Order: sequence, then C-alpha cells, then structure tokens
Amino acid sequence: MFGNTIRRAWQVWSDGYCPACKRPVPMYEWIADALGQPWKMRCPHCRELFPKNDFLKFYRSGLNEQNVFDPKRADRSLLFNLEHPDPADPLHKFGVDDGEGYVEGGKRWRFIGAYLIYGQWKQAIVAGRGDAVELIELDNVRLWPR
Ligand SMILES: [Zn+2]
Repeated sequence: MFGNTIRRAWQVWSDGYCPACKRPVPMYEWIADALGQPWKMRCPHCRELFPKNDFLKFYRSGLNEQNVFDPKRADRSLLFNLEHPDPADPLHKFGVDDGEGYVEGGKRWRFIGAYLIYGQWKQAIVAGRGDAVELIELDNVRLWPR
C-alpha cells in the first residue's frame, strides 16, 4: 500500500526557477514525460532533467516485504548526481531528490512529488498508455489508497 512515505506535490515549486538555468519555471510549467523520461521533470527552458539521481534505484532499495517504500530502508548512498559521481565534485549532490525534494539554499524543489502527480498519475495511469515495465512500477507506487 502506498502510504505517506512520499509526499505528492501539485507543483515543483509554485513561484520557483530552474536550479540549472535559473530562469523562472512557475506553477505547472515543469514537463513530465512518464514514458519517455520516467522519474524526471524537464525544465521548459534549458531542457535539463531533474532529479539528477537515479530515483527508481533508490526507491527500489527502500521497498519492504509488502513492496511499500520505506525511506528508512532505502540506500542513501544512491543519492548522488549521476553526471557527477565523484564525491569531491561540487555538483555531486546537485539536483538530488530523495522523494522529499531537492534542497538548496533554503529552497525546495519537489521534483519527485510533482512527478508522482504529473508523470505517474496523469500520464501513465489516467492516459492509460503505460507499457508493461511502467505498470510494474505503478503497482508499487499507489497514489491513493485502494
Ligand atoms: Zn532550466
């Protein structure tokens, strides 16, 4: 059962900007493409994808016996920017979202939270276009209790 282990968000950041290009990306302008770019939100300006970590891998590492994501079980060593794998790299943690958002300078971007609404739910479930792989993931990510 998908509980409250990942907070869903209706916006990445209501009046925010892109952490890569710094251009404003308000409200609903982040682009989700659940089938093309699963677990990512795209900046409409610079086309950068966020989060920068492999969230699905992290998510899978935290599944318990009931296939429920438990953040306490998840492998936090997976939380790094795949484009900057060296821990000494200043961008090692840039754009990384553990499900509660990417935090930088007191700001919070809820990429995964918004993805759960705009990607998983609106595209893959409502539009009914999910392929087999996607459906397996959806089985583990339930947006509402059922
Ligand atoms: Zn951008």
